[in-house]
Amino acid sequence: MPVRNRFADLLPEITAWRHDFHQHPELMYDVHRTAGLVEERLTGFGCDEVVPGIGRTGVVGVIKGRSTASGRVIALRADMDALPIHEETGLDYASTTPGKMHACGHDGHTAMLLGAAKYLAETRNFDGTVVLLFQPAEEGGAGAKAMVDDGVMDRWGVQEVYGLHNTPGLPVGHISTRVGGFMASSDEFEIEVTGKGGHAATPHETIDTTLVASQIVVSLHSIVSRNIDPIHRVVLTVGTFETDSTASNVIAHRALLKGTVRTLDTENRKLAEERVRRVAEDTASAFGATAKVTWTAGYPVTVNTATEVAHAVEAARAVCDHVDPEAPPILPSEDFAYMLESRPGAYVFLGNGDTAICHHPAYQFDDSAIPYGCSWFVELCERRMPMDL
Ligand SMILES: [Zn+2]
Ligand SMILES: [Zn+2]
Repeated sequence: MPVRNRFADLLPEITAWRHDFHQHPELMYDVHRTAGLVEERLTGFGCDEVVPGIGRTGVVGVIKGRSTASGRVIALRADMDALPIHEETGLDYASTTPGKMHACGHDGHTAMLLGAAKYLAETRNFDGTVVLLFQPAEEGGAGAKAMVDDGVMDRWGVQEVYGLHNTPGLPVGHISTRVGGFMASSDEFEIEVTGKGGHAATPHETIDTTLVASQIVVSLHSIVSRNIDPIHRVVLTVGTFETDSTASNVIAHRALLKGTVRTLDTENRKLAEERVRRVAEDTASAFGATAKVTWTAGYPVTVNTATEVAHAVEAARAVCDHVDPEAPPILPSEDFAYMLESRPGAYVFLGNGDTAICHHPAYQFDDSAIPYGCSWFVELCERRMPMDL
């Protein structure tokens, strides 16, 4: 395989780090043990700077090349947090904490970026600076945003940022990515509809909130079919519909709808929000009712920039068995999106073979993917910041 030979030597050590992280999963921002070990190892590798406490419990490592004359600064990111899932893998290094599990492979991401850091600090065969970003709280806590808000990009002058995620179903040794929207934005809305409750036998004296809310649900589904360009992908789902009537002879006074919108570009995301507000408010108004819309913005669209995808693909082709530069987008979301809002960059999927899907209690990170991930990080840095510039 074309991976760096050094990672064959380092594989047992990196795998041992991974298994240790796996045995000790930590949630959200509470990644103190993991961050402590990351800090300790980065310091041990001889990084030029190691700074904990960025974005609450994130850790930043800085490695300068043999030259920094190019002025280039590239950031590589890994996430450190686990999930509130009870592990059912039966592995001898399974989670030692009931109800917590590295079921998304972030233990593997952290171990691979540490492996790359060790190599880069040993060899420094590049002209520029590598900034390593170890973030907390990818799983719903927007840890990437916390690090960006803490000024990580400006403080170290980051120009480009790259990240990877293991992908069950993609063979080990494969990398896939795409230009533009790769993973979806994930926003939530609540619509509180207020009419005028009353007796089921005297509907003319009420404003039937159930009927109004039903009209809103039907009209909301016109947004994807009639407002969004049909070649774009948007999902709008109304997941819950509750009213305050629990009797068959009572017309509800109040109804609550809850739903989610997923999009693959920021224009559609904005359009969907505008339309949800307008459709809900104006439909309610047409019936003499009111609708109060609460929009909760979740993770943005993960948007890869074309130039950086080209670099990511070139590096992947040098170290992987197969590279797909035009992978289809998917609708889960990813908080690396916040880093990509801040700087150009690329996010790639790294093959994890035929395992249970991420977030499943039987999910397993495949350690044979480690040399590919480490080699991709290193190849990217050396190609983007070559010594002979
Ligand atoms: Zn996850
Ligand atoms: Zn994940």
